[in-house]
Amino acid sequence: MEFRKRWMGLLLAAALGISCLAGCSQPAAGTTDAAGTNESTAAVANDAAGADESTAAATSAAAEGEGMFTPGTYEGEGKGNNGPIKVSVTFTADSIEKVEIVEHGESAGISDAAIERIPQAIVENQSLAVDTVSAATNSSKGIIEAVSACVTAAGADPQALMQKTQDTKEATERDENCGILVIGAGGAGLTAALSAIQSGAGDVVVIEKQAMFAGASSVAGGLAGGCSKLQRSFGITEDTPEQIFADLMKGGQANQEDLVRLWAGEMGPTLDWLIENGVPIESQFSNFPEHTYQRSFMVTGGSGEMLKVLAEDVKAAGGRIDMETKATALLTEDGAVTGAVAEDAQGNTVRYHAEKVVLATGGFGANTDMLSEDLSVALFYGVASSTGEGILMAQEAGAELCFMDYAKMYPTGIQVEENYARVATVHTALTTQTSGAILVNREGERVLNENLDFVSIKNATKEQTDHLLFLVMDQNAYDIWSQSANDSPSPSGRFTFEEQEAWFEADGVPIFTRSEDIVEAAKAAGIDGEALKATVAEWNQMVKDGKDSRFGREELTALEEGGAWYIIEEKLRFATTLGGVTINTGFEVLNGEGNAIPGLYAAGECVGGAHGYESMPTCMLSWAVTSGKLAGAAVAEVVK
Ligand SMILES: Cc1cc2nc3c(=O)[nH]c(=O)nc-3n(C[C@H](O)[C@H](O)[C@H](O)COP(=O)(O)OP(=O)(O)OC[C@H]3O[C@@H](n4cnc5c(N)ncnc54)[C@H](O)[C@@H]3O)c2cc1C
Repeated sequence: MEFRKRWMGLLLAAALGISCLAGCSQPAAGTTDAAGTNESTAAVANDAAGADESTAAATSAAAEGEGMFTPGTYEGEGKGNNGPIKVSVTFTADSIEKVEIVEHGESAGISDAAIERIPQAIVENQSLAVDTVSAATNSSKGIIEAVSACVTAAGADPQALMQKTQDTKEATERDENCGILVIGAGGAGLTAALSAIQSGAGDVVVIEKQAMFAGASSVAGGLAGGCSKLQRSFGITEDTPEQIFADLMKGGQANQEDLVRLWAGEMGPTLDWLIENGVPIESQFSNFPEHTYQRSFMVTGGSGEMLKVLAEDVKAAGGRIDMETKATALLTEDGAVTGAVAEDAQGNTVRYHAEKVVLATGGFGANTDMLSEDLSVALFYGVASSTGEGILMAQEAGAELCFMDYAKMYPTGIQVEENYARVATVHTALTTQTSGAILVNREGERVLNENLDFVSIKNATKEQTDHLLFLVMDQNAYDIWSQSANDSPSPSGRFTFEEQEAWFEADGVPIFTRSEDIVEAAKAAGIDGEALKATVAEWNQMVKDGKDSRFGREELTALEEGGAWYIIEEKLRFATTLGGVTINTGFEVLNGEGNAIPGLYAAGECVGGAHGYESMPTCMLSWAVTSGKLAGAAVAEVVK
């Protein structure tokens, strides 16, 4: 009987992903046995009371008036954004004493507030019904899930702790006055605030809906800075604003010319200004063929570091940043924008009355309601804050929108959630370059040289049935893909071995199929199997002949017949939208008649037109900070 009780407990513990730590008085949930531990008082008491083995510890303890939990320290696991989050929770008989995060792989900066706040909130409120942290929702939920597992292990029912006990004070309303209100604390918003203050404006307030600086600017890789002192320090002295202008216009094809001309001249000075203001930019980023000269740089420690420095600069210069304060509407008076209504972290309504408002709320890729048919063919892989409400608020105030059908789209996305992708670009490119893997469409045909640039692969993907390609691999090719995907240092590019295996088994979304029989693998993926078989035979013949007579691919390796076949989807994906409000070179937002809406300015990704149809590498962040800096200066000019 004792053995059975312990075994059942261990099974349940294993199922819940929990373990009992040294010093814990219960080895696992659902058992009242404490054999093998030296602090067994509570357990011995339970045993002595003769609790039935089928009764959870909490039930027996509660029934005997001994409290809700079986005291001890337990470990539990929950699913975070980037993988498992492990916590350790210490219970007394009546309370959750301590919650500690033992292990996690969440992104620094983005998850910090959740890691700090959720354990504290659970202990303070003695409840699992604590508010999740905006922008770190998955991390928050992962911690709560892990603590729930520990609650179960301690013999209590997590559902009983789902009652909201947090402060439920009545929401209030208040009014605030400021000179300039900046909405959004990304690259555009923080540069706008800093430059406005440095240009002589007082009373600058930034409101940011998230608990931390976690907009798109926090995850960008690099930024362009052509004609900067930094570029020249690398010996690149031939670059000119005219060349930057020409490159940008060529890349975007339909860009708003006057904005691009302004930007091309200010790109370099803006990079230098960031450095002067303490942003650590000293290294070159990748050299992209779209740029005539190498003009891409990176922030040391990642672009999130830039936001931290800028935020400190804004505060040191006398500005204010109200975090967890979400603008919900613009205030207007006789057609002019006079501020914004916002909701703070406690649910209170704040009416910010301002002389001028700068909209810097980023893109709209995370808002499926705002995605046109053209954009809906692709999966989003950007940040959760890109929900576009700033653009909608401006539209409500009369703003004309443009380029709303465009995003910076890439191929090689893998759908990991509804409408949401992770990025397989590196793994797929590595695999097609070093093995015989080919890309085919639903008809089982190759459609291009697999080793072309991303834009070519994206354009080809767009044209196929269901806007989809498939990577077809033999065992050797899959081993390369699989290892690269598992080992990726980037959370958005990582696909663990466990995930890959689960997807092959699930046979659903994302499409991952395998079989010894290529026709079967193809059928399961929704591809014409016989056609694929013929395509593979043709590919192997071309490899034998030493020439890809269809598409001219130079890396020729045969696909091995007779072993396992692996097929995975390659979908379109985007993180960055190119549409938004229309502005003039004074950064004033324009209405349908092309007239400025008094009081309303905009900068960054919420503006349409600067990039045209296709943004250039490293130019989104450059546009954000350059337009932010210029908008701040422009608005300061009219309020000081
Ligand atoms: C994964 C990824 C990689 C990228 N890599 C690159 C790159 O390498 N190079 C490059 O040039 N570009 C890159 N980009 C694009 C680039 O980062 C963005 O276009 C740019 O940073 C946008 O800056 P922003 O300030 O306009 O918007 P954001 O940085 O998104 O800031 C907007 C802020 O506004 C806040 N906000 C939104 N709505 C409200 C509201 N209602 N009230 C209050 N606050 C609000 C948001 O929370 C956010 O903090 C990348 C984007 C992503 C997602």
